Amino acid sequence: LVSRKRHPEDTVVHVGDVVIGDGRKTLIAGPCSVETEEQVFQVARSLKEQGLKLLRGGAFKPRTSPYDFQGLGETGLSILRQAADKYGLKVISEIVNPADMERAARYVDIVQIGARNMQNFELLKAAGDAKLPVFLKRGMSATVEEFLFAAEYIASKGNTQVMLCERGIRTYEKWTRNTLDISAVPLLKQESHLPVFVDITHSTGRRDIQLPVAKAALAAGADGLMLEVHPDPSVALSDANQQIDIPQFETFMNEMRSTGLFK
Ligand code: PEP
Ligand code: MN
Repeated sequence: LVSRKRHPEDTVVHVGDVVIGDGRKTLIAGPCSVETEEQVFQVARSLKEQGLKLLRGGAFKPRTSPYDFQGLGETGLSILRQAADKYGLKVISEIVNPADMERAARYVDIVQIGARNMQNFELLKAAGDAKLPVFLKRGMSATVEEFLFAAEYIASKGNTQVMLCERGIRTYEKWTRNTLDISAVPLLKQESHLPVFVDITHSTGRRDIQLPVAKAALAAGADGLMLEVHPDPSVALSDANQQIDIPQFETFMNEMRSTGLFK
C-alpha cells in the first residue's frame, strides 16, 4: 500500500487546513518535552511568528533510562492543545501505548511513533485504526525496507495518511548522536509515495551543523524537517545539548528562507 509502484502519485497529508507533501516544504518544531505551560506557549508564539503550522512536544517520553524525566502524560498533551489553539497551530506528539491512541485524538492532530517503537506492531496497528495522520520515525537500527514495512502496518489498517521521518541511525561515529542517512531520503521518495521528513535535531545531536544538514535534507528531496526548540535549552528536562533557543530558531528560519529551498 505504501509502494510507489502501486500508487505512483504522491500522497498528500491533510491536517485540517494544513497540507503536507504537496511540493511545499513543511517545518515541524517545538520542545523535546512539554515541561510547563509557559515554555510551550513561548515556543508556540515564536512558531506562529515564523509562519509555522505544526507544533511538536513530547508528553510521553520514551527515555533510555527509567530515572530520566518521563514526560507529563495527558497534562502535557493538554498544554500542547491549548498553546496550539491559541496560536492557530496543529499538534503533533508521540504516543507510546496502543491504549492511549483513542484518548490522544482529543488532543493531537498528528500521532508520532518514535524510533524506539517503529516495530511495536500493536502500536502501529492502533495508529492505523485511529484514523489520525501518523508521523513515523525510523528505528535507529532499522533498514529502509523495515521502515517501509512498519508504514505498511499502519496502511494495512486503512490509514495511508502517513509521513516517514529519517532521524539518524546507529553507526560507529561518535561526533554526531546518530548518523543521518541522507540517502534514505531519495530512496524513500523513490520507493514510496509518502511524504518524507528529516529530523535534524536527533540525527545530529548538536546545534552547530543543523543548518547545513537541513539544507542537505531539503536538497535531497525531503518534504519537511523536524527540529527541537526550547526557550532555555540549558534547563531542558531532556535533550538539553541539542535543542536550539528562540533567537537561534529565528536565525535558522532566516537562513533557511535565504536558501530559496524554504519559503
Ligand atoms: C522525539 O522526536 O521526541 C524523539 C524521541 O525522537 P526519536 O524517537 O527519533 O528518538
Ligand atoms: Mn528530543
